[in-house]
Amino acid sequence: MFDNLKHQKLKDFEINIKDIIISRDTFTLIAGPCTVENYEDLLSIVSQLKKMGIKFFRGGAYKMRTSPYDFQGLERKGLEYLKKVSDKTGMISVSEIVSSEDVKIIAEHIDILQVGTRNMNNYRLLHKLGKITNPVILKRGMSSTIEEWLFAAEHILEAGNPDVILCERGIRTFETYTRNTLDISAIPAVKSVSHLPVIIDPSHSSGRRDMIKSLSWAAMAAGADGLMIETHFSPDSTICDSEQTIDFTMLAEIIQPMEKIISLWGKKLG
Ligand code: PEP
Ligand code: MN
Repeated sequence: MFDNLKHQKLKDFEINIKDIIISRDTFTLIAGPCTVENYEDLLSIVSQLKKMGIKFFRGGAYKMRTSPYDFQGLERKGLEYLKKVSDKTGMISVSEIVSSEDVKIIAEHIDILQVGTRNMNNYRLLHKLGKITNPVILKRGMSSTIEEWLFAAEHILEAGNPDVILCERGIRTFETYTRNTLDISAIPAVKSVSHLPVIIDPSHSSGRRDMIKSLSWAAMAAGADGLMIETHFSPDSTICDSEQTIDFTMLAEIIQPMEKIISLWGKKLG
């Protein structure tokens, strides 16, 4: 299957970003709020993540909200806060790009650019991301097959950027108990046809705080190359996605057996 993936053969993959390695031999843990709400809260969250030994943080400045009446993000101000916090803490930032007109400004402020589920098929955006040097996290479209997702990655690779990380964030099924359905089988599937790392987002896939631990452990056990988890010091008071956001106590619980589980796959924490 997928014979015409010209750039995704089974070969080595390695990104070195601020001396941290992202590869299929390491495990990349990204945590942080759904959205940047203000500078102080972001700094406090990221400082705590750093204390916990985490190297990557996330936070949305531009949000793709289903309703136009919901908070759309701090936009430019949010980018500035993310950069300031990253510079101050030395932590690696991840934030979503929602429009091709923002590529330059986001690439200047953010270490790793994320393409959200709603933009996986925005090929003009993917081509532009092929022209920058920042790594790109490409989320799976909520209604996309694995083949369509890998071809979306191929658009970025063909345009010239080899540093693509895939992120499974749940797909739409008939099930309504969870926000989406986490497709764990995407992990071994991707691994058998592509050399790109694949990380799991248990937050947007379940939409439920009570499931983050089991889905995270399941992802590690299935051989995922990382996790991206929405985390906040006060999940109930967040503006966006509070039902799925966890606190530091729960994050610590998730991390506790991590080294043991990822060692099943010969992996080390990145
Ligand atoms: C996010 O990670 O902030 C996000 C909006 O995720 P998704 O695109 O998977 O819905
Ligand atoms: Mn969110």
